[in-house]
Amino acid sequence: MSEKRTVDVVVVGGGPGGYTAAFRAADLGLSICLVEQREHLGGVCLNEGCIPSKTLLHGTSLIEEAAKAVEYGVSFEKPQIDIAVLNAKKESIISQLTNGLDKLGKARKITRLTGNGVFQDRSTLLVKGPVGETQVQFTDAVIATGSSPLILPDLPDSPRIWNSSDALALKTIPEKLLIVGGGVIGMEMAQVYSALGSKITIVEMLDHIIPPADKDLIQPLFLKLKKKYQILTRTRVTEVKVIDGGIVACFEGTKVPDPEQFDVVLVAVGRRPNITGMGFQNIDFKITEQGFISTNKYQQTSAPHFYAVGDVVGEPMLAHKATHQAKIAAENIAGHNVTFNPKTIPSVAYTNPEVAWMGLTEKEAREQKIDFSKGKFPWGASGRALSTNSSTGVTKALFDKKSGKIIGAGICGAHAGELIHEAVLALEQGATAVDISKTVHAHPTLAETLGFAAEIVTGTITDALPPRKR
Ligand code: NAD
Repeated sequence: MSEKRTVDVVVVGGGPGGYTAAFRAADLGLSICLVEQREHLGGVCLNEGCIPSKTLLHGTSLIEEAAKAVEYGVSFEKPQIDIAVLNAKKESIISQLTNGLDKLGKARKITRLTGNGVFQDRSTLLVKGPVGETQVQFTDAVIATGSSPLILPDLPDSPRIWNSSDALALKTIPEKLLIVGGGVIGMEMAQVYSALGSKITIVEMLDHIIPPADKDLIQPLFLKLKKKYQILTRTRVTEVKVIDGGIVACFEGTKVPDPEQFDVVLVAVGRRPNITGMGFQNIDFKITEQGFISTNKYQQTSAPHFYAVGDVVGEPMLAHKATHQAKIAAENIAGHNVTFNPKTIPSVAYTNPEVAWMGLTEKEAREQKIDFSKGKFPWGASGRALSTNSSTGVTKALFDKKSGKIIGAGICGAHAGELIHEAVLALEQGATAVDISKTVHAHPTLAETLGFAAEIVTGTITDALPPRKR
């Protein structure tokens, strides 16, 4: 016998998109049922993505920091890392955050159902969970079912072949780790496992690592990493064979190495939207050729009363995009009239140094035939960067020549993921190179480098030679 519930809004998926939609809609006075398969809210981001990876990156970065301290006259014994303690720290942070979400949901009187939700028709969701079935009658629905790692075709089934969740579980430290995909996950996991002692090979099919960012922006990171890792760009893995005690990978591309044996292969070649097994055929909304749910700027699908947000509606698959779309969906359900139309959604790779970019890249600006000026400030000339041993970096900003307005920016360097937001706000507010150059930045800070990049464009830079004197 199944239980029955009637609510205003059912939200399927408890990740950043789902819980944000549920919380915002509850705050706007609607009754909510939030359905999630996992025991805990937070989705991939919190349970096996952004948060655990940042914890591991921080933990392992301390090893590098300790080694660099010697330049400041501080020396330590060679650091020892206790994987069990690191894992426990990671789990405790996840628990702290998921427990916090539980409390926030309870305080809003949201009904939580644990289980797999399948739409029966346009007003009924059947949830099958560990404690039985519940039939949820609803007026509006928000789909926030996220994405799963893409799997390369023809890969054998083996515990030596990992996806990002396996890598974050930190069960073993392979001696030789092959990473397929030089995107954000590949580069972040390379950093963790390299610090833990793995010998890293990265295979990226495009011509540079972190391909969505400009090649020159990535350069300080690339020059540092190529001393430590084998990085094979314009290369693909053609075959992976499981043999006794390892994996043999064959490659194709430029400068193809001979087949090589590895202990583990991590596949990080992107993600695909979760759209199957949830009765979407009973709703009949539009799905794009790439398999994403098609939505308009109100986050509405093509089926009335059905909204969708986050990874399942398309790129970029980022938690901060999902949360903003979720608020739009919830507010529209509550009768507001709001749209999702940010000028940019920033991206960050939490490597060391970090890479962050927003707006147009230089490559995109050229492709769009935009006449722009570029200011590029190397961190070797920043007092703060030098004094904190962070001179591996660059800040660049692009400005439309006609209007003077910022159109894009990228930062490679320590805390780039924090620093990029000044540029994001500048773009949202239509700030020009003059506006940014005349904004007083505290000295000495890393944030100054964006001001300097703007000053290069306005010709007022004094911390470097002005463009005409170079
Ligand atoms: P990604 O799309 O960022 O990178 C995948 C890379 O694999 C690309 O560079 C692509 O060119 C390469 N590739 C694809 N097929 C290949 C092949 N056969 N051989 C060699 N290279 C191949 O995907 P990801 O790193 O798996 O991350 C997945 C998603 O998760 C992304 O949408 C990302 O934005 C998100 N994510 C974000 C963060 C962050 O914001 N820091 C961290 C982790 C994940």
